[in-house]
Amino acid sequence: MKEQIFLLIKLQKADSEIEGINTRKRDLPEEKEALADKLKTFEDAIEESKGKLDDLNKTHRERETHLNNGTENLKKTRSKLLEVKTNKEYEATLKEIDSINMKNSRIEDEIIYILDDIENTRKNLETKESELADYRTIYDRKAEKIETELNSIDSVLDKMMKKYYKVREKINPAFLKKYDIIKERRNGYAVAPVWKEVCEGCHMNIPPQMYNELQKPEKLILCPNCNRIIYWESREISEG
Ligand SMILES: [Zn+2]
Repeated sequence: MKEQIFLLIKLQKADSEIEGINTRKRDLPEEKEALADKLKTFEDAIEESKGKLDDLNKTHRERETHLNNGTENLKKTRSKLLEVKTNKEYEATLKEIDSINMKNSRIEDEIIYILDDIENTRKNLETKESELADYRTIYDRKAEKIETELNSIDSVLDKMMKKYYKVREKINPAFLKKYDIIKERRNGYAVAPVWKEVCEGCHMNIPPQMYNELQKPEKLILCPNCNRIIYWESREISEG
């Protein structure tokens, strides 16, 4: 009897491990995708910054051309002052010069503003590039780890399955049937340890008489609360 219970415990452990491996197998590709998504977020942010910087540089060049034209215009208009004949013409030219000056000064202000923006965008881009470099190191390491695990997971699963069926072969068919039914009903958890009269499957107390029987196993005992196969497991050592 002791041997049969021992095998049922072993079967449960193998079952739980298989479940764990299958969960990993399902989760790993998603984890990998999430890592790649994050990497792309960093890359997109950099592309956006680069695009903004290109636009700003283009605007800056345009404004510089405008300013050069404005300066040329100012020079020409000033030289016109020497050629005017009437007072009226003179005043009109002065007004024109004023207007050109105002326009040029507005462009100069714009250029200062744009240069400031360029500087900030460049700094921002540098920060993002350094963040990306940091993340890429993490990404490479994690992605490689996932890849390694994924590459070996089928053979790990296969080994575990073989072990599982080997244990099954040694178990009494009636017990095995019970095990399978309970496993199905109890979400994969069919065999639970009991310590100090508490069933770990449902965390409820079992009767003292049953607890005594459990310590000298002569038959298969089910928890009266959760119906799991239960066994006595001393925790004396681990509790110090
Ligand atoms: Zn229970």
